[in-house]
Amino acid sequence: MKEKSALKNLAMQMAASCLKPVNGFPFRGMYGGIGQILTFHRVIPESNRQRIWSNSYLEVTTGYLEKVIRYYKSNNFEFLSLDDLVSKGFNMSRKFVIFTFDDGFRDNLTFALPILRKYNVPLNIYITTDFIDKKTILWWNIVEDVILQNDELTFEWFGEKIHFQCTSPTEKNNTFGRIHSLIQEGTHLTIYDRALMFCQIFKVDPFSSITELALSWNEVRQLCNDKLVTLGAHTVSHPVLSRLSDEGALGEIGQSKRRIEQETGKEVKHFAYPFGGKKEASLREYEMARQCGFDTAVTLVSASVLREHQNMMYQLPRIAVGMSMDEVTFDLLRFGVIQMMRNDGKPLT
Ligand SMILES: [Zn+2]
Repeated sequence: MKEKSALKNLAMQMAASCLKPVNGFPFRGMYGGIGQILTFHRVIPESNRQRIWSNSYLEVTTGYLEKVIRYYKSNNFEFLSLDDLVSKGFNMSRKFVIFTFDDGFRDNLTFALPILRKYNVPLNIYITTDFIDKKTILWWNIVEDVILQNDELTFEWFGEKIHFQCTSPTEKNNTFGRIHSLIQEGTHLTIYDRALMFCQIFKVDPFSSITELALSWNEVRQLCNDKLVTLGAHTVSHPVLSRLSDEGALGEIGQSKRRIEQETGKEVKHFAYPFGGKKEASLREYEMARQCGFDTAVTLVSASVLREHQNMMYQLPRIAVGMSMDEVTFDLLRFGVIQMMRNDGKPLT
């Protein structure tokens, strides 16, 4: 504990030194901004189940989520929905935080919502419609299960004989990395077809994982009728939008909005760009989100929301939250130090 508090003091000293006014502009205001939009994906119960390390970075436990909520409560942040952000017109009396969850995982309903309800925190979920239609192969989960169930794997991959020893946790993690590369970076066929091929080799139903983990349309409707929940769109198939033609990208954005509206009977006013970095979405995509009639669109550029974003509602930054972030990290985020470092000192992104 002593070490942790020493580390915290050091971090706060660093933060304080970074926050001194420079040329009359207080860094704190520039980088800390007026609020933060946080990004989560899955929320899972505490468990001792063995995991592949790189697969768990999109998950937080229920206990961790509760700690994050308590952190922002204790620092007097106001918890807003995306609709609140629009209706308040950036006129907030105190700093705000918005909790968003991407893709449409069932645990958002079963595990996240009860915790958020306990603290009266609005839940904002961006839906990828192919997730709900169970058309996506969550191949990284399937590869994980296959590796955890076996001590060695031998298979043929485009004519080459592949063998992996995967007995120890290190071997299992290394094997995951190798198979991940085979599927993600292979040159034959598409990623989807290579994932399908892996499932065929190991006789796994390619849609078993998505069926288990993604929300159903009935569950989406249930969420939609909850006063604490705001639904947003996150494309049809979760592509890298910048790689698509104008027609293709506009179709992905617009069709996801229309589909969710048809299924729920309510207007969808918010959008999240898949992957969300500047390489995946920039000016063309921001304009498309505006054309499609959304009120807001969020990126995954790691920055605070600044007052200037009121005129940049289709490129609102978000901060991805992972279990490795401790209280010191959140302190540094609150003061804008991490945002400053991640954005090469540029305050506005
Ligand atoms: Zn996503």
